[in-house]
Amino acid sequence: MRSMAILTDVTRCIGCEECVLACKRTNGTGADEPRRWQQTAEDLSESRWTTLVPAPGGRAVRLHCRHCLEPACASACPVGALHRTPEGAVAYDADICMGCRYCMIACPFQMTRYEWSSATPRVRKCILCYEKVSSGELDQPACTAACPTKATVFGTRDELLAEARRRIADAPDRYLNHVWGEHEVGGTSVLYVSDVDLATAGWPAALRPGSYPALTRPALHAVPWTFAGVGAAAFGLNWVIGRRRRLAGGEGPAGPPEGEGDGK
Ligand code: SF4
Ligand code: SF4
Ligand code: SF4
Repeated sequence: MRSMAILTDVTRCIGCEECVLACKRTNGTGADEPRRWQQTAEDLSESRWTTLVPAPGGRAVRLHCRHCLEPACASACPVGALHRTPEGAVAYDADICMGCRYCMIACPFQMTRYEWSSATPRVRKCILCYEKVSSGELDQPACTAACPTKATVFGTRDELLAEARRRIADAPDRYLNHVWGEHEVGGTSVLYVSDVDLATAGWPAALRPGSYPALTRPALHAVPWTFAGVGAAAFGLNWVIGRRRRLAGGEGPAGPPEGEGDGK
């Protein structure tokens, strides 16, 4: 199956935040509440799965989960709550998650957030509108559909990689000769082209070109079995609390239905 992907062209982004608002509307994430571990309400959070950050030259760069081809978050999850779907989205199963937050530590882009405001917190992040697109409810993610300048577009990874290379070849004076996400961390399904370096806008210069799960696996194997026992207890507690919540009719902030491929 061909992999779903997003290409963001930083040179076309006007910073209007229509993508951010469309994501919030579609996923029902509610108002942004500044918290002490966030610098501002505009930072990525449980209610804000995509946001804009400044880059050199006055550019705005859209941030969200990169849907890595080899996701370190999924590799770090001891119970398989995060997984890469055949369609390319890195999805999340809240019913399995035991709340250990290893995924948050493992993500090389720091794109996952925790639902601190909930009694039964989930991991929250961009889900590539996976359920809605794969079911046919949407023909593309809400954010790409909303972008007025087509700065962020949806397609298959192969098509978008070719489009990114074509734009650079057609206008070498307009773009840096680099497609962010082509090789970093083993490749991602969210790609960028830009006229300014993105090292300070979500693409740290220290990223390795190869697979990150290869790094996290040995670390996980070194986790003592006692921690596995603690994890199992946490999972049991989380499951009981979650079941009580469901029986009581649900609580916490609105979001995708449980079991949907959501994140953060
Ligand atoms: S960017 Fe982070 S959260 Fe998203 S798939 Fe990659 S490792 Fe997972
Ligand atoms: S792909 Fe969907 S979940 Fe991800 S940022 Fe866009 S609208 Fe939000
Ligand atoms: S909707 Fe498009 S132009 Fe507006 S901020 Fe998002 S990516 Fe940029």
